[in-house]
Amino acid sequence: MSMSCNQCEMSMPNGCGSAGQTVGTCGKDETLASLQDTMIYGLKGLAAYREHLNELAPAQTKNVDDVMSETLYFTLTNVNFNFDDHIKQLMKVGSAGIEVMDKLSNAHTAKFGIPTPVEIPQNMVEGKAILVSGHNLEMFGELLKATEGKGINIYTHSEMLPAHGYPEFKKYKHLKGNVGKAWFDQVKLMKRFKGTFVVNTNCIIPPKKDADYIDRVFTYKIVGIEGARKIEGFDFTELIETTLACEDTVMEDDLTLTTGHHYKTIMTLAPEILGAIGAGKIKQFFVIAGCDAPGKQGEYYRELAENLPKDCIIITSSCGKFRFNDIDFGNIEGTGIPRYLDLGQCNDSNGAVEIATAVSNALNIPINDLPISIVLSWMEQKAIIILLGLFSLGIKNIYLGPKAPEFLNDDVTNFLIDTFDLHYTGSAKEDLEALLIK
Ligand code: SF4
Ligand code: SF4
Repeated sequence: MSMSCNQCEMSMPNGCGSAGQTVGTCGKDETLASLQDTMIYGLKGLAAYREHLNELAPAQTKNVDDVMSETLYFTLTNVNFNFDDHIKQLMKVGSAGIEVMDKLSNAHTAKFGIPTPVEIPQNMVEGKAILVSGHNLEMFGELLKATEGKGINIYTHSEMLPAHGYPEFKKYKHLKGNVGKAWFDQVKLMKRFKGTFVVNTNCIIPPKKDADYIDRVFTYKIVGIEGARKIEGFDFTELIETTLACEDTVMEDDLTLTTGHHYKTIMTLAPEILGAIGAGKIKQFFVIAGCDAPGKQGEYYRELAENLPKDCIIITSSCGKFRFNDIDFGNIEGTGIPRYLDLGQCNDSNGAVEIATAVSNALNIPINDLPISIVLSWMEQKAIIILLGLFSLGIKNIYLGPKAPEFLNDDVTNFLIDTFDLHYTGSAKEDLEALLIK
C-alpha cells in the first residue's frame, strides 16, 4: 500500500502518495500515514460508543473526549514524526475504547437491568409490526414504551438482538422476537416484512432507486437515507400511524435464537466455570466475535465454531454471531454451563476482557497464558476500536479476518505481528489446528 494524504496545501497533485510516493512533502512517510489512518478509524468507532454514553451518562465522557481531540490534533500536518509516539497515541485511543465500553455497559445495566439468557422466536412474525435494527438501546426502550397497547408487535434485527436479554425490555409482551440476520440482509428482508423498519444507528444499506419499501423506513439521529423519514426525539407518532396502516406480516419459521449472556451474568457462574476448568471439563474458550459482512468469507467463522471440540466454550458479541448462532451448541458435558455465550452487541465486547480478567485473577495466570483464543471479524471502524482496545491491554495472539485491513502497511503489520503476535485468518481447519491446545 502507498500512502494517501491530501490534508494540507503542500499536498502533491491528487494527494501525497497518489503516484506511489512513500513520503509526503512534509516528511510524513507511509508508515506514519498508516498509523494516523488507524488512529482516525479507531476514533470513528470510539465516537460511536461515546455518543451512546453521552446519551445515558453525559458526565462520564470527559476523558474519552480529551483523547479524541488530542488524537485529532496529533494527526495535523507537521505535528509528530516519531514512530514510538504514534504507537503510544494509538494505545491511548485503545484505552479510551476499553473505558467507553466499560462505562457504556454499566450505563446500560444501570438503566435496563443486567441481561439474563433468553431463547426467543426467530423469523416468526404476525400482525402490525416494527422491525428495529441498530445499537441504540435507549431509543429502543422508549419505542417499546410508546407502542405498548397500540396493537403493534416489535421485532429486533441484527445488533438489536441482545435487547431481548434486558429485564426492562423483556417485560413488554409486544416484544416478540428477532427477524433476519446481520445488517446486510435488510433489503431482502423488507420484501417479506410488510411493516415498518427502524434503523437507529449504523449499519443501514442505501436502498436501490426502485426500492418499494422506502416509505416504510424510519431513521434516527445520525442515520439517514434519501426518502426515509426521521424520528425526532422520542416522538414515534408518525411511525406508529404508518405501521398501523401497513399490511400485516406473516412469517412462520420455526426457529429460535439464544442471547442475554452479559458478562455480569456469566460472573455469577464463576464458581461452576472454575470447577469445570479444574475438573478438565472445559479445556478452552474461543472468543469468536466481531462484525459480519456480505460474502462467503464469513463462513470461516461458522466452520470454526461448529468444529470446536465439545469441551470448548464460544464467547461471542456483535453481528458476526449470525454466521453460527442458529447452531445448538448444548452444554459442557456433565454441567449446566452453556457452550455458547452471547455477550451482546459490539460495544459489549469488553465483557470478554472482564471474563478473562476474572479467570486470570482466580487462577493466578496471566491473561495471555490462559486457554483463551480470540478470533475476530472486522468490517467497520467499531471493530478497529475494539482491536486497539485489546492491544492497549497487551492481549496477544489475536486472529483477525476475514481479510487484512488495507490501511495497515507492511511496516505496521510487521510491528503488530512482532509485538502482539497478530495473525490473519487463513483456512478454518488449519487455524483451528494451530489454536487448539493439545
Ligand atoms: S500532511 Fe504531509 S503527507 Fe499530508 S498532504 Fe500535507 S504534505 Fe502531504
Ligand atoms: S457489529 Fe459492526 S457490522 Fe455489525 S452491525 Fe455492529 S457496527 Fe455494523
